[in-house]
Amino acid sequence: MPRVVSARRPQAKPKLGQHFLTSDDSAIRIVDALGDLSHHTVLEIGPGRGILTSLLAPRARRLIAVEIDRVLAAQLRLRFGMSRNVEIIEADILAIDFDSLFGPKPGLGQPGIEIRPNPAKVVGNLPYYLTSDILLRLLDYAKYFESIVIMVQREVADRIAAESGTRDYGMLSATAQLYARVEKLFTLPPGAFSPPPKVHSTVLRLTIAPQLEGLGVSGDGFLDFLRLSFAQKRKTLWNNLKTKYASPQLKQALAEAHVKPTARAETLSLEESAAVYRALHSPDQGS
Ligand code: SAM
Repeated sequence: MPRVVSARRPQAKPKLGQHFLTSDDSAIRIVDALGDLSHHTVLEIGPGRGILTSLLAPRARRLIAVEIDRVLAAQLRLRFGMSRNVEIIEADILAIDFDSLFGPKPGLGQPGIEIRPNPAKVVGNLPYYLTSDILLRLLDYAKYFESIVIMVQREVADRIAAESGTRDYGMLSATAQLYARVEKLFTLPPGAFSPPPKVHSTVLRLTIAPQLEGLGVSGDGFLDFLRLSFAQKRKTLWNNLKTKYASPQLKQALAEAHVKPTARAETLSLEESAAVYRALHSPDQGS
């Protein structure tokens, strides 16, 4: 008797955040939001059953799709095996070496000369359990990317796009807005996915535009400072910062930046936070 191989799709794995988009119109809107791809490398995060991949493959100069699920990655390889511009990598996106994928390459046969690839575009209907980790990692490597179009849980999109002074503003908003211009594009109901998640989902576009130089701050130092400022959301900026800075130094820096000691971090714009940071780290402060 010949063995019958089931053609049924494997069950979605909720642990991996597998809610597959079933709306073709929405998939087209997501891919359209990336703009012209004919000269770009595109990084797709979590291609799943390939609804976005099948639209990206004919448009992108090169497509790198990273899927952690072994079965899905194998199915995608079979499906896109003939597309020479498509590379399916079975891996955890958080473990991918962005430097070797997107960093400068040695010039062919010319010592000392490097080829710097054009910045890539990133797209993905993200596994929601990893949204912050993935976004923060992408921003950490912002120099390799031009824009990022991602689907995230609606409430998380609200936080990423929140303006300072609003309830949703926090570390994630400040970090995203330090590196990119954030736009909310559209929101989808649970019914646009299979199986449906419990939440609505929003598509965001982040256009990379780092503000560090304009704000006169260094990346790592300022991010550590923001982390400390937001360490305990209910506490005032003063109480969060006093765990690291001496009171007289803090008093002087807040006065210089025209920020009240009773202010909370979420009420400060990035410019105001940067002013406090610069005042605390000016050569006269000795730190
Ligand atoms: N892009 C597909 C779509 O729109 O239908 C699938 C989206 S689904 C919300 C998230 C996908 O990310 C799943 O295919 C899941 O297996 C994959 N995934 C989960 N964790 C991952 C990780 N750490 N690295 C790469 N892919 C991951």
